[in-house]
Amino acid sequence: MINFDYVRPSTQKAAIDALNKDATSQFIAGGTNLVDLMKRGVTSPQKLIDINRLPLKGIQKRDNVIRIGALALNSEVAEDELIKARLPLLSQALNAGASPQLRNMATVGGNMMQRTRCPYFYDTSMPCNKRQPGTGCSALKGYNRMHAVLGASDQCIAVHPSDMCVALAALDATVIVSGNKGERKIPFLDFHRLPGSTPQKDNNLQRGELITAVEVKDSDASGRGAYYLKVRDRASYAFALVSVAALVEMKGSLISNVRLAMGGVAHKPWRLTAAENFLKGKAATVTNFQLAAVEAMKGARGYGHNNFKLKLAPNSIIESLKTASGLS
Ligand code: SF4
Repeated sequence: MINFDYVRPSTQKAAIDALNKDATSQFIAGGTNLVDLMKRGVTSPQKLIDINRLPLKGIQKRDNVIRIGALALNSEVAEDELIKARLPLLSQALNAGASPQLRNMATVGGNMMQRTRCPYFYDTSMPCNKRQPGTGCSALKGYNRMHAVLGASDQCIAVHPSDMCVALAALDATVIVSGNKGERKIPFLDFHRLPGSTPQKDNNLQRGELITAVEVKDSDASGRGAYYLKVRDRASYAFALVSVAALVEMKGSLISNVRLAMGGVAHKPWRLTAAENFLKGKAATVTNFQLAAVEAMKGARGYGHNNFKLKLAPNSIIESLKTASGLS
């Protein structure tokens, strides 16, 4: 680990100014991923800007919008009474992530900013386009069991590791960021990026911007028929092989509204728009769920070790829909 400077600003402006002053500086909050990256030499900021003193922790509902501060801890959000009552999908997803110790340190903003857990990204002796653009992707022909089956490129097949972000994608959340030019709002689905030819960029945050909050519209549908299914190698402290966030709203025996997102399959939380469109207005039956899963998996491809996801993912979609719709 290299030496670095450390500052603890107490205002948003001071934090953003500090970031702008030094191109090698980075924000740190819980540090549950960044410190690992620094220890392994994957990233080497010369200055850490500790933002934990900024007043960005609260969870409030105002004008039918639930606003979650970027520094709210994952454990606080998961156990918050408002979140459990109105956004149970988010609570479920947070509790499925990491371990209790990590959830007590990790923040909402940090969860969004965490980097892939592709082993080649962390091994500085191996080529990796995300860590060092232009060097190649070791996972393409390497051990790629955890890797993407949707939206990948020949530059990178990594997946985003978050559970929380999959729920927020299904909930149509909005990311609030602050920078030199003031505040801007980014639809959650536009926050993270696909790898394309620039896999080094995980998201669309601009240099000098700070995530301040995430907002989710409250509605009766937000809390109904919500289910987060996470399939992983062990019951705790494991990243998703595949996860599905499902929200299903029924009107009689028909599906009036449905929102679906998948984790563990792409470089960003993967929204299943085609499957949603297929299901709207249809009966909640296993046959319809199977057909929706076929829609969701169009264009998917495996890379060898992860071919099992081509079957696991549609099966997970079907199972999550069965539970969220009350069929099982
Ligand atoms: Fe690097 Fe992405 Fe390839 Fe992993 S999948 S080795 S992160 S370029």
